[in-house]
Amino acid sequence: MRIPRTVKLGNHEFKVIYKKTIRHPGKNGEECYGLCDYDSHVIYLQRGMHPSKKSEVFFHECLHAIDELFDLRLGEKKVNLLAVTVMAWIKNNRIDFGVINAKRKPRRNRAHTKKRRSKRKRN
Ligand SMILES: [Zn+2]
Repeated sequence: MRIPRTVKLGNHEFKVIYKKTIRHPGKNGEECYGLCDYDSHVIYLQRGMHPSKKSEVFFHECLHAIDELFDLRLGEKKVNLLAVTVMAWIKNNRIDFGVINAKRKPRRNRAHTKKRRSKRKRN
């Protein structure tokens, strides 16, 4: 999973910033893998995590942002459960969402298409 430098959540854009050490201000400065700062619209991720862990933490922090933006009241336990289960679902089923943002191929010129087909017949 490619982690973008900024992520749009609702109508807001959050920056993604990597830090060596992240301390959770709500948990007595306990060290954590990620943190979502709703006020400054920043998602912090710990530098150097394994790619699968990084994806899970990124998704987890995005869920926190969505939870806050839409007042879903999920809380830590449900956000964590959703992050782990949805990421496992994507990974275990090899789901690729790349097609969502894929640009449509331009339509071929009909004359060009016919020409190519006739070429094939000759060979
Ligand atoms: Zn959390």
